[in-house]
Amino acid sequence: MNADLERLIALQQLDSAADAARRRLAEEPEHEKALAARLEIAQQQVAAARERLAENQTARRALEKDVALHQGRLSKFRDQMAAVKTNVEYQAMQKEIGFAQDEVKTIEDKVLERMLEADDLTAAVKRAETGLAAEQKAVAADRRSTTAGHGDLLAAVERMTGERAQLVAAMDKEVLALFEAIARKRNGIAVAEARGGVCTICHVRLRPQVFNSVRRNDSIMQCDHCNRILYFVPAPAQAATPDGATQSSQ
Ligand SMILES: [Zn+2]
Repeated sequence: MNADLERLIALQQLDSAADAARRRLAEEPEHEKALAARLEIAQQQVAAARERLAENQTARRALEKDVALHQGRLSKFRDQMAAVKTNVEYQAMQKEIGFAQDEVKTIEDKVLERMLEADDLTAAVKRAETGLAAEQKAVAADRRSTTAGHGDLLAAVERMTGERAQLVAAMDKEVLALFEAIARKRNGIAVAEARGGVCTICHVRLRPQVFNSVRRNDSIMQCDHCNRILYFVPAPAQAATPDGATQSSQ
């Protein structure tokens, strides 16, 4: 194979891999934002559940105060009963006591309702806290692996930058300039495999004489349509690679 063509293929692989690594690095802040949002939601759920429980307790305390108030009135009525002289007064007092007892009963029922509700609300707080703990654990694990991955990505980019410099130093300047110009216009992809007479990136059929030249891999040929530099991967010789090859041509 033409030495420059071979270097171009290697250069394209390096650039594509480095681009992917840089993209992943660039996505890190967005990823961190999503993790922080997950934690925020779980924390809000705990806060909301605790607030509902606190409201329940406040309401229950208010009801219990009411009960105490009515019970105070009841004992006052009972004291007054002793001083009652007439039957009419007695009946009137009995009526007052009856009202106050009904009132106490009604409020005590409400207290009971609040107590039952408190059981559910306490369980809901527990669930929200368990959910938060799970989210905190998952987010911490994600952050650890992202941090570790960050180091790997930086190291990979640095290694590839070094390899690229070596490759580029060995390359014909005009060929390199052609590569850079196409890469700029074609979203970073300047080299394409030609297979079955077609450019595998833009999918346009090559003229037969172009494809025939590409098949020889001995010169820098470009796709008529997308201008990318073309190379050909020959079919593996059956006898030479009995274990089966990964590359093939049609
Ligand atoms: Zn093409």
